[in-house]
Amino acid sequence: MTLTRRDFARIGALGLAARFVPSALAQSNDRKTGYAVIGLGRIADHFMRGVRNTTNSKITALVSGHRDKAEKIAAQYGVASGSIYSYENFDEIAKNPAVEAVYVALPNSMHAEYTIRAAKAGKHVLCEKPMCLNVAEAEAMIAACKKANVKLMIAYRCHYEPTNLKAVKLIRDGALGQVQSIESPFGFNIRAGEWRLSKKLAGGGPLFDVGIYSLNACRYLTGEEPAQISAYASVIDKDGRFNEVEENVGWTMRFPSGIVASCTTTYGANMPGYFRVYGSKGWLQVDQAFVYEGLRLRGEFEGTKLDELNPARDPSHFQAEADHFSHCVQNGLEPQSPGEEGLRDMRYITEIYRTAGISI
Ligand code: NDP
Repeated sequence: MTLTRRDFARIGALGLAARFVPSALAQSNDRKTGYAVIGLGRIADHFMRGVRNTTNSKITALVSGHRDKAEKIAAQYGVASGSIYSYENFDEIAKNPAVEAVYVALPNSMHAEYTIRAAKAGKHVLCEKPMCLNVAEAEAMIAACKKANVKLMIAYRCHYEPTNLKAVKLIRDGALGQVQSIESPFGFNIRAGEWRLSKKLAGGGPLFDVGIYSLNACRYLTGEEPAQISAYASVIDKDGRFNEVEENVGWTMRFPSGIVASCTTTYGANMPGYFRVYGSKGWLQVDQAFVYEGLRLRGEFEGTKLDELNPARDPSHFQAEADHFSHCVQNGLEPQSPGEEGLRDMRYITEIYRTAGISI
């Protein structure tokens, strides 16, 4: 794929240029950035396996409320037992030269606190999505990282994923003509007892957790920021799971060019994430667009019929994002999905909830 200077600027503004950086540039040395992984849950496991496949990153510390679990993982990744921290003694990480960056893989409500504590400890921060609970927290995280002169990247792994990037490229190249509309659902049927159902820990329901993928995709697919947002939310299942957070959200967005987008998210049904983009010359769709493998690009435009299954397997997305962040750390570059990108989504999430009549 070749990009014009204008394409690169537009994609870069959305944090999507990383995949187009020539690999010779991306592999400038054999130094490995050491990461402390904070919170040893499901996503941390994907990330650590991804890091293991990189050439420029390694796991050098663990932060956990469960020492026994941390010790087992430490043995797998060759982490010294002196580099296992609890949430209480986390700040001592400042004295650990093997840790250059942290990966924040905690429940949403803890992202701001650990990003700010890590910045104060002089560590670069790769923070999971959603960035945090609200705009004020996002601004505080950005300010803390700027003050400490450390980098902050939000782990929007689809920004570094080839099938999503190919869809963006086709759209930018005009394959679909004038894009008119986008549709994107993403949701799953949640089990009772998850921290994701606690407003205090999660901030909100499926919009914070998975709806954010559709929101973010509409922004990188259009290359525009929403001008108008309108939303509805509901709880259908009165089985106790949704006493604190919403079950369903549907929202529409109008972008400055006139492109309209329609998105839905749920915790009440299995709804594989995809996006479908309609333009004056045809359409394209990425099935499984937001999950770790099995992404499939389909489309029909101007005599072209596409049907491409991406053979990459998990943890390739995590490998790509760790590779990118370490590259930025090692070369003094700004990440392609910086804190400001997370802040923008926090603003739109706030607006979606506001128009749906939910306060966060
Ligand atoms: P998990 O529940 O699997 O793991 C979270 C970990 O955080 C726990 O294992 C625990 O680790 C630690 N923790 C500390 N305090 C608490 C608490 N009060 N309740 C629960 N856990 C706590 O969550 P996920 O890994 O699924 O999600 C973590 C973050 O990653 C979320 O922000 C989520 O949105 C994001 N995520 C991103 C995905 C992506 O594809 N980019 C996909 C899935 C999640 P320990 O026992 O070591 O202390």
